[in-house]
Amino acid sequence: SGLGELDSLLTGCRACPRLVAWREEVAQVRRAAFQDWDYWARPVPGFGPPDATVVVVGLAPAAHGGNRTGRMFTGDATGDFLFQALHTLGLASQPTSDHAGDGLTLHGVRLTSPVHCAPPANRPTPLERDTCRSWLAAELDLLSPGLRAVVVLGGFGWQALLPVLAEAGWRLPRPRPAFGHGAHVVLPATERRQEVHLLGSYHPSQRNTFTGRLTMPMLVDVLREAAGIGGL
Ligand code: SF4
Repeated sequence: SGLGELDSLLTGCRACPRLVAWREEVAQVRRAAFQDWDYWARPVPGFGPPDATVVVVGLAPAAHGGNRTGRMFTGDATGDFLFQALHTLGLASQPTSDHAGDGLTLHGVRLTSPVHCAPPANRPTPLERDTCRSWLAAELDLLSPGLRAVVVLGGFGWQALLPVLAEAGWRLPRPRPAFGHGAHVVLPATERRQEVHLLGSYHPSQRNTFTGRLTMPMLVDVLREAAGIGGL
């Protein structure tokens, strides 16, 4: 499919020198628990079927998560929290996600991100964010005939996603919609695009899940709303 071609082009991208260096350095140093791993250490493509009606985005892959396994939201506690929520709703075939060959499949949902390489301290620079923008814009373009809802995990992802949506042909309200858990914004249909709902959730990082800022029912509620909009 077009999406498969896009994914394979993406994995060869070396446009951000700092991120290319970092993703490879992390793979050399590794974590004690992952000494035997051959890290992916490349841009991490989206994961999920090409007919997804719901897209879930964070900000960027994690150094020892997606950057290690080569699959978005895979190989760390954040991913497990997300897949447990998706599995509760029948959107993921299993509640955990260890590695890219674990048999996990998604139903109607695709996971991707505005920045495709793991950044130091999980923070891309504004230039890196802008440089990566066209990849997700192209992915949303390919998904757009069926796309109905985009769930954004965290405020940094929200800030990064809005310009991607604009580049991909949706018109953003002014003032720009603010991020919050439970934020729900409808982007109206344009000549090029169908109506899409934009939903916000706190990010399922351990900082949020350990402190109870984001509970499992809170994440499930947002994903359920998106799934309903997506006809899942
Ligand atoms: Fe390429 Fe995006 Fe990775 Fe930069 S962050 S190197 S643009 S895939």
